[in-house]
Amino acid sequence: MFFGAGAYYCEENNLGRDIGVEEALDVLEKGRKAGLVLQPSNSQNPATLCMCCGCCCLFLKNIKAMDKPGRYVHTSYYARVDEESCVACGACADRCHMDAITVDETAHVNPDRCIGCGVCVTECPSGAMLYKQKEKPDQYVPPVHIYETFMNMAMERGKP
Ligand code: SF4
Ligand code: SF4
Repeated sequence: MFFGAGAYYCEENNLGRDIGVEEALDVLEKGRKAGLVLQPSNSQNPATLCMCCGCCCLFLKNIKAMDKPGRYVHTSYYARVDEESCVACGACADRCHMDAITVDETAHVNPDRCIGCGVCVTECPSGAMLYKQKEKPDQYVPPVHIYETFMNMAMERGKP
């Protein structure tokens, strides 16, 4: 999905069509049910919103190939298991696009691989997979808009 100027561009160039809030929410629900990772552009007012998987998506596929995807992705959240409630069904591990979960007597999340997407949380039948916010120093505040994001990237690349 595209928002704001990007949406006008797509519409004017026959690259997409205008949809309302209700249809947008339906699309999101479809993505959630399919276990796709929600990927807004990196800003508080996102210009785009993708829903992708770890086998086809350019970004997720490359992140997944890294040893520690959880260390490269800007996220303020992570998944954690309540071992008392876990019934070791493995549904979360099947869903995780980052191969971050292993299951023996209970599920375990590897924090180095967890990108905090939350896909495993909605799949857990016993409410044992919890979605937690990181502590203050590790919380990430995205730039206000995408232009600021690109400016930050350009400035970082321009460093000697
Ligand atoms: S939030 Fe869950 S599904 Fe997403 S990467 Fe972490 S463990 Fe995997
Ligand atoms: S989906 Fe829930 S109950 Fe099943 S293994 Fe994962 S955490 Fe445990």
